[in-house]
Amino acid sequence: MQFSKRQKKIVEIVKKNQPITSEQIAESLHLTRATLRADLALLTMVGILDARPKVGYFYTGNSIQTFIGDYLHKIKVEDTKSFPVIVSEETTIYDAIVTLFLEDVGTLFVQNKDKYLSGVVSRKDLLKIVVGNQDIHKIPVGMIMTRMPNIVFVHDKDSIYDAALEIMEHEIDSVPVVESIKDQHGEVQYKITGRISKTNITKVFVEIGKE
Ligand code: ADP
Repeated sequence: MQFSKRQKKIVEIVKKNQPITSEQIAESLHLTRATLRADLALLTMVGILDARPKVGYFYTGNSIQTFIGDYLHKIKVEDTKSFPVIVSEETTIYDAIVTLFLEDVGTLFVQNKDKYLSGVVSRKDLLKIVVGNQDIHKIPVGMIMTRMPNIVFVHDKDSIYDAALEIMEHEIDSVPVVESIKDQHGEVQYKITGRISKTNITKVFVEIGKE
């Protein structure tokens, strides 16, 4: 849900001059009433303005900012997640670095033999090993990754706001999206189904700002 410049202007005019009729709003914007009809209908529908017959429009106190906040809580991880790039614990550092380039991502998610989330390896994790001059053709990512249970992840039904909060609070670039599954021993395991990175958050931000 985005608001146009004109809709924002209407809200400002109503805030300052309420109650105000649609004719008066149209006049101050140098537009016709007909042109404003759809904007006023929308602003009333979402609860930012209130219309009282024969009196005019009021501002309800529900700001556009409140609305954006609601919107961010409504967009679910499953609506915006990207494809995860997954390697196994045995993948060598060298192959992991090649995968970073080929897949154009900054973080790889690692799964164990049972194909459950076991770790995360980031650009800097890999750089550290390279700088240390170790044999990148021999060392597996399993040896250097950040591993469970220290992995921060989200689920499909979490909001994009929840994901952004995790990314910010833990100072990381991305989180795996997982589906919780009980294994044959009754223990909860996590299947990787996607990825939310700072890029996904930026995309939502740009979408909201579009006019
Ligand atoms: P970079 O180190 O390339 O800037 P990050 O800031 O994402 O990338 O990673 C910082 C550290 O946090 C790394 O050691 C990485 O393994 C770890 N890390 C990255 N993502 C997660 C995550 N979702 N959960 C837990 N640890 C993570």
